[in-house]
Amino acid sequence: TNEKQIIENSIRDIKDFPKEGIVFKDITTLLNNKEAYATLMNHLHSRYKDYNLDYIAGIDARGFIFGAALAQMLGIGFVPIRKKGKLPYTTIGEKYALEYGIDEIEVHLDAFSGVNNARVLLIDDLIATGGTANAAATLINQTGAKCIEACFILGLTFLDGIKTLKEKTDVYTVLEV
Ligand code: 5GP
Repeated sequence: TNEKQIIENSIRDIKDFPKEGIVFKDITTLLNNKEAYATLMNHLHSRYKDYNLDYIAGIDARGFIFGAALAQMLGIGFVPIRKKGKLPYTTIGEKYALEYGIDEIEVHLDAFSGVNNARVLLIDDLIATGGTANAAATLINQTGAKCIEACFILGLTFLDGIKTLKEKTDVYTVLEV
């Protein structure tokens, strides 16, 4: 669609970032483009307005930008899922594999406690291997809330991330590359 073209055209490819051989999808050129940013947020709002969501959970750090904006449009709360050591109250954590080594993300244990069996939408800018999103969905479900769907602006289809994540939750990608 024309909508998706506007969004796709606003995302920039950066070669050899953060290291040689990687083509990094730069979404800062989407954010500073008022037409593209509004088109994306309106698209997400029309998709999710009738999902009966209770919270949006955004992944550190670019998931915060889209997640917080969408939560405000939907009139629901926002929950940050953060890199280890950043959240001040009692947390639960989940480790996930990186290319070399492991990382860990955390969420506040009581983050979704304002609603029983809360319906949560997980959001991030991009899914690659799916390791981060898988850990995030696990954390949401461990708090007693339910991850209804995981939403990404971009999905990389040459990796198995989307396929693997679909075993745990529904997945929606605005664009696939
Ligand atoms: P995964 O865990 O699926 O392998 O990696 C996804 C995570 O890495 C996301 O949190 C995403 O923000 C970040 N990421 C990996 N590659 C890119 C990229 O090319 N562009 C952007 N914007 N983020 C990326």
